[in-house]
Amino acid sequence: MAQLDVRQKLEILADAAKYDASCASSGTSKRDSRGATKGIGSTEGMGICHAYAPDGRCISLLKILLTNSCIFDCHYCINRKSSNVRRARFTAREVVDLTLAFYRRNYIEGLFLSSGIIRSSDYTMEQLVEVARSLREDHHFRGYIHLKTIPDADPGLIEAAGRHADRISINVELPTAAGLERLAPEKSASRIQGAMAGMKTAIEDGKDASRRYPSAPKFAPAGQSTQMIVGADAANDRDIVHTASGLYDRFALRRVYYSAFSPIPDASAVLPLKRPPLLREHRLYQSDWLMRFYGYRPGEVAQATDEQGMLPLDIDPKLAWALKAREQFPVDVNRAPRELLLRVPGLGVKAVDAVIASRRWRKLSLADIGRLSRSITKLRPFIVTTDWRPTALIDRIDLRARVTEQLELFGA
Ligand code: SF4
Repeated sequence: MAQLDVRQKLEILADAAKYDASCASSGTSKRDSRGATKGIGSTEGMGICHAYAPDGRCISLLKILLTNSCIFDCHYCINRKSSNVRRARFTAREVVDLTLAFYRRNYIEGLFLSSGIIRSSDYTMEQLVEVARSLREDHHFRGYIHLKTIPDADPGLIEAAGRHADRISINVELPTAAGLERLAPEKSASRIQGAMAGMKTAIEDGKDASRRYPSAPKFAPAGQSTQMIVGADAANDRDIVHTASGLYDRFALRRVYYSAFSPIPDASAVLPLKRPPLLREHRLYQSDWLMRFYGYRPGEVAQATDEQGMLPLDIDPKLAWALKAREQFPVDVNRAPRELLLRVPGLGVKAVDAVIASRRWRKLSLADIGRLSRSITKLRPFIVTTDWRPTALIDRIDLRARVTEQLELFGA
């Protein structure tokens, strides 16, 4: 490898990290570096960092790979052994220094660190852990750290990562074990899931210890997440929803990220030539949202898919489900329980809470609901108000066309 300076390495290794979607930082605990507390990078109050949004928005992170060299040859990965890319490698010390320098300039609020596998999984994991350890212990860094772990690494090392990082992620890579076997033959679904199970137990133990002893060190307080590549194998949206929901249930994940496969230079011949529509990734995020915040079961989200098991691209999955589950509508906004109101296309969590708060004092009309939603057009066939009842509208064969046409007309 030619001698590169840190700036050149940063150029290569920040670019190589762009394929990783797991950068949101929701749910971590706040750390304060003001007053008597030693350290920099407070995640609250005045100064260096902003507060975290509990809704999963991204904060600014230095997102890099430790190295883009890899001894593995996963077909979908630009950094695979057989790929003809320019390679670079940071030392752990360089990553620590870069993070601190960026932090002090207030460019970032934390670090997202992943890596190709060099020498062995254990060796790579040791380097990743060393970065986090040094930041926390040598420099009292109190910013956010997200470490991508190597599932094959010694469980002790993965646990050490959780002692220093806010969030840990272990990628499942592909929605099905068959897809993984075909496209990442050196990886194993059972080893990946074993690592996730180990991390889940360690996180629960950490929470338990914190409850009993408030001074107990935090263990991966922002939990674990994973990433799935969409469109590189034959899995349809129904398979993906099913896999994601199983992962949430079994490993108590905070997030499943979906990353639309993008054709890479020198792509392997076993990959599709085209990337899936970006909208597909968006629809999957919406379906994920329905399961996490709207109480939909995976089977219900699957109901929104077509005969090929794909979510429609022209309408969101909530509307797609409502059009198929018409027997549930119309819903009387003045009487329906919260969980039913959440099923109404066009009513989000905030709007539903506002409906519930307002109807304690008075009966709501269509205009009242119109003020709470960006799209009364989308809502009308699905609700009853004091002055509106969609007679026979919900039974119309052309309801889908009517709703989508009107949505286009009004730009809703
Ligand atoms: S192990 Fe990771 S970095 Fe290496 S080829 Fe596979 S996906 Fe890419």
